[in-house]
Amino acid sequence: MTDAASPSPSQDFVREIVAADVATGRDGGRVVTRFPPEPNGYLHIGHAKAICLDFGIAEEFGGHCNLRFDDTNPVKEDVEYVDSIKEDVRWLGFEWGDREYYASDYYEQLYQFAEHLITLGLAYVDSLSADEMRASRGTLTTPGQDSPHRGRPVAENLDLFRRMRAGEFPDGAHVLRAKIDMASPNINMRDPVLYRIRHAEHHRTGTAWCIYPMYDYAHPLSDAIEGVTHSLCTLEYEDHRPLYDWAIASAGTAHRPRQTEFARLKLNYTVMSKRKLLQLVAQGHVQGWDDPRMPTISGLRRRGYTPESIRDFCARVGVAKKENVIDVGLLEHCVREDLNRRAPRAMAVLDPLKVVLTNYPEGGGESMDVVNNPEDPAAGTRRVPFSRELYIERDDFMEDPPKKFFRLAPGREVRLRNAYLITCQEAVKNADGEIVELRCTYDPATRGGDAPDGRKVKATLHWVSAASAVDGEVRLYDRLFSVEDPDSESGKRDVDITTLLNPSSLAVRAGCKLEPSLADAPAGHRVQFERLGYFCADPDTRPGAPVFNRTVSLKDTWARMTARGE
Ligand code: ATP
Ligand code: MG
Repeated sequence: MTDAASPSPSQDFVREIVAADVATGRDGGRVVTRFPPEPNGYLHIGHAKAICLDFGIAEEFGGHCNLRFDDTNPVKEDVEYVDSIKEDVRWLGFEWGDREYYASDYYEQLYQFAEHLITLGLAYVDSLSADEMRASRGTLTTPGQDSPHRGRPVAENLDLFRRMRAGEFPDGAHVLRAKIDMASPNINMRDPVLYRIRHAEHHRTGTAWCIYPMYDYAHPLSDAIEGVTHSLCTLEYEDHRPLYDWAIASAGTAHRPRQTEFARLKLNYTVMSKRKLLQLVAQGHVQGWDDPRMPTISGLRRRGYTPESIRDFCARVGVAKKENVIDVGLLEHCVREDLNRRAPRAMAVLDPLKVVLTNYPEGGGESMDVVNNPEDPAAGTRRVPFSRELYIERDDFMEDPPKKFFRLAPGREVRLRNAYLITCQEAVKNADGEIVELRCTYDPATRGGDAPDGRKVKATLHWVSAASAVDGEVRLYDRLFSVEDPDSESGKRDVDITTLLNPSSLAVRAGCKLEPSLADAPAGHRVQFERLGYFCADPDTRPGAPVFNRTVSLKDTWARMTARGE
């Protein structure tokens, strides 16, 4: 696709809001954003959209973006996740300098704000059980009921809250609630919980705290403490915005950040909820968070995606107020386009069938000069060994070909890429009738692949010289789920999401024959295997025993669909 398909980043509604604020001198024209992951899982492609927006806007408007870990739930969070998040944001190409913050760094300040709210009569300690609180919250059509503790005097609230902090009560005995309006049409405003008791060890603060702030309280105040000007989040927080504004106004902070919501990224054939991704990992349906089938940044990286292709994808998807599902074909298109420019070509045979050139000198051999990347002259050339015995792809031969099969068949001539024209004379079979070898002749006058007499062949095959081939493993991937929308499908059928996994999402091919230049490819090395797709050396790769993941095949379904106007 052309660049016309990528919207210019200046066009979306979030950038319009930021530009207008800068123009009117709001916050002195400063732009400060933040990316606020909760360290309870690995980042996924949806987070990449938020990262590109938060860091992108800061960059474009000469401001900065904080990396803030929203670590207010000690039970689910872990340093492993903190480390992976930092690695992934950096890999995507964004820097936060020394602005690495943690909501847990603000626990003392947040606590002081809470005491302040109590003093102002804007918060109270409630001692209802969770069930009682749920029952008195009301519904969308009926107002909630005031808690019997709503009228507690300030002094009693302060005393109880301090004793909550001091660890005098067990989990669930009390909570701190905002005193707003139990009849509000917005349920989020019906005296939401601000603090709960949790006797749990936190990955950063250890056992210093046994009360933890809720997201809806910690988030706006963390934004205010950091001087964030534009707090960008996904649509599900739209109904929480009045509470966001309430917290900031009530605490009376100097800075008044503003929240703006945008549609979250949805991709077909996968899930994006961290809870569900964690389930896939924990139950062993995938090999880890970085399994190349996962929509995680680390999975995409291991699969062979480039940061550039992911950023390009996010730019093309754009930012809007309305949710829609993006075809994973667009993501694949972006990486294909990027790798086409930069990945060197090589030859590998995944399902080898031996070819013997009967008229080629025994013990002879030669090297073919081969262009590394036709899209990039600077990539130079390499020498690829050629000899009497070769491997081609088993499905490039048919003994009894149908009409439209133009590749190798008995009596037929085809081109071996960058080498010679060969003609199949005989298919040798074993006792079971399986073809084990092709006996072919080559035309020495066609070196380089063209016949001096101008005769044409209908197919060009890739090949690897048997004598110098390196045995390797290749992993081919398909969609993780066999249905387009696993989330809604599992709900509709009332089944667990894992029953919708694609049973053939991974095919491991051992005993592949790779050209010798690939023998020692380091992990992360990206290459196009001619005719087969783009591949990337896996971290499991070893010198002399390469392991490659297929990033994407060469067939661009998305571009074809778009060309047909679908
Ligand atoms: P959780 O279910 O644990 O709340 P989350 O996906 O909201 O998960 P966070 O760590 O809270 O994860 O997300 C960090 C930021 O990334 C938030 O601002 C969130 O809005 C944004 N984000 C998360 N998922 C997506 C998505 N699919 N598309 C765009 N932004 C997203
Ligand atoms: Mg969240």
